[in-house]
Amino acid sequence: MTKIAIIRCEEKSKTCPGTACFKAIREKTAAFEKYDNIEIIGFDTCGGCGLGKTDKIKAKVDTLKQKGAEVIHISSCVKSNCPWYGSFMEETKKHSKVDGNTH
Ligand code: SF4
Repeated sequence: MTKIAIIRCEEKSKTCPGTACFKAIREKTAAFEKYDNIEIIGFDTCGGCGLGKTDKIKAKVDTLKQKGAEVIHISSCVKSNCPWYGSFMEETKKHSKVDGNTH
């Protein structure tokens, strides 16, 4: 059992309920293919655009780790839309195992 958490784009979260992320988890496709069993311990957002600063992502990662996350997934919507995806990945890597995708 691997405890995972997902951080998605705050802006996209206003219109996306996470259906594709949960479908990929359920069907073990894309980024979730590699797991035998998954426990989702959190489904959070980046905290909103902060002009490239990583303090909000760090705070989210800290909380998710305290709640038991073993791997943080930075979602596909961050990867495909966010100009700060690279910075978010680098910051998250300092504090947790990270996967830069969901579906
Ligand atoms: S910082 Fe990136 S991931 Fe967060 S709301 Fe802005 S565009 Fe979306």
